Amino acid sequence: MRSCPTLTAYGRHYCAPPRRLVSLTFTSLHRHNSAQFLNFSLFTAFRSPFSRMEIYSSGFSDSICLETPKLDSIGLEQFQTGTGLTGNKAMVENLKRFGVISSKKVAKVMEALDRGLFVPAGSSAYADTPLPIGYNATISAPHMHAMCLQLLEDKLQPGMRALDVGSGTGYLTGCFALMVGAEGRVVGVDHIPQLVDMSIKNVEKSVAASLLQKGSLSLHVGDGRKGWGEFAPYDAIHVGAAASEVPHALLDQLKPGGRMVIPVGTYFQELKVIDKSEDGSIKARTETSVRYVPLTSRVEQTGGF
Ligand code: SAH
Repeated sequence: MRSCPTLTAYGRHYCAPPRRLVSLTFTSLHRHNSAQFLNFSLFTAFRSPFSRMEIYSSGFSDSICLETPKLDSIGLEQFQTGTGLTGNKAMVENLKRFGVISSKKVAKVMEALDRGLFVPAGSSAYADTPLPIGYNATISAPHMHAMCLQLLEDKLQPGMRALDVGSGTGYLTGCFALMVGAEGRVVGVDHIPQLVDMSIKNVEKSVAASLLQKGSLSLHVGDGRKGWGEFAPYDAIHVGAAASEVPHALLDQLKPGGRMVIPVGTYFQELKVIDKSEDGSIKARTETSVRYVPLTSRVEQTGGF
């Protein structure tokens, strides 16, 4: 057991008086995970009330410091693995069990689109963790994908238009396409050409392939901070990388009545839900604390390579 780091205490839930301290270090917290969800899943896995949680990050590993009245030792339950659609179905079942997925439609779409087709070979496709995809980018953890799909569900009805900025592997863009169907229009934008090529190949192997072929889904190379004017305005905009502030072009390309979900911040980030009303006015609220890779320039992200 190590002494507990002191850097971060997310939110008000974790400030009860100290009792027993447990600390562990693991890598799956790295990026795209919400602290609230992690605490919740640890509660569920160990049936132990963690009265306080602190997270300390360095490089690719994070330390988490938990206070609990019950535990002497602690291990982190991983979601069911398995392969192909069985593993994918088990992943969705777990997200339902942990209360992350409550929408039937989101469950159906995530069950249909096999995450295993979108991650690099040999990685734990169905574990609830973000995974490196090259070029200093990651595919988000399944619970973040589920959360964003549910936040945007009303704006991803059949026939609607959606923009996915920082489309990476194309997984979430593919989910959007299944949500809006052949009558809808979904655009993914990423600034790394190799990732866009890979995302197209991924989608081609998946149940969303026909939507790509028919043109209701397309994936493009571009600076997502400028949005994608061609099919604007959008009912739903998702940004998969953290912006220091919300780009104006994205607000302009959001349809009145539309919704944007975007992580905002640098080290400490919040997932913002931004609604544009019919009169064009903007309302924003914070959904949760998150860790995403930055929405930045290609050179900044890749170090010039
Ligand atoms: N949502 C995707 C990827 C998330 S990682 C998935 O889950 O698979 C964030 C992505 O944002 C990376 O692929 C990165 O290349 C991209 N990105 C970062 N800044 C960008 C920018 N200015 N324009 C377009 N894409 C950007």
